[in-house]
Amino acid sequence: MASRTSIFGNLLVLGIVGGGGWMVWNNATRDAAPPSAVRGAFSDAAQRVGYDPASRAPRAGALQAQALSIAPTGLAVPVDGIRPAQLVDTYTQSRAGGSRVHNAMDIMAPRGRPVVAVAPGTVEKLFYSKGGGGITVYVRSPDRRWTYYYAHLDAYAPGLREGQQVGRGTPLGTVGISGNSDPAGPHLHFAINRMAPGDKWYQGQPVNPYPLLAGQQAAR
Ligand SMILES: [Zn+2]
Repeated sequence: MASRTSIFGNLLVLGIVGGGGWMVWNNATRDAAPPSAVRGAFSDAAQRVGYDPASRAPRAGALQAQALSIAPTGLAVPVDGIRPAQLVDTYTQSRAGGSRVHNAMDIMAPRGRPVVAVAPGTVEKLFYSKGGGGITVYVRSPDRRWTYYYAHLDAYAPGLREGQQVGRGTPLGTVGISGNSDPAGPHLHFAINRMAPGDKWYQGQPVNPYPLLAGQQAAR
């Protein structure tokens, strides 16, 4: 049963330490060797979060990126350089003229900013939806009970592929405006879904990510 209660166990922790400070990896001991074999627009950002395109994985010590914030729940804020206090609860906002509810959170950030995995898992699906999320990633938790969804990306991290194992902080791509995103407001659309056994990557029940990432109560 431990796996079943993982996020809610974290919520309990959140309640205990809520109001406390944030643990931020900022004591980076950077590799002395200069990065090599790095190309493309993603490279600078990828290097900042310690991504090694050659091995298609974070370098040793990659999670010492200067701007990665970890919420008390243990989830990383999924956009490099964004702090929990900057997050806004957009979960219950109406979309499509009020015909549906958002059931996700939008994290405003400059285009090209690295998007990183909030928690470990397997890249279950890389999906393109022209009229929806655009360039998207679905990461499933190791116990398969949770899916983390990242949408409107500009590009995937170099070498990202379905079936790949990612760790917390692994770069997945960059903030963009793909799909039905407003080009004037680049952001990451991020959702968490609770998955039943046998649920496919596009199924599941949405859970508000805001309190899990921001350490604040969700709006009622
Ligand atoms: Zn959204």
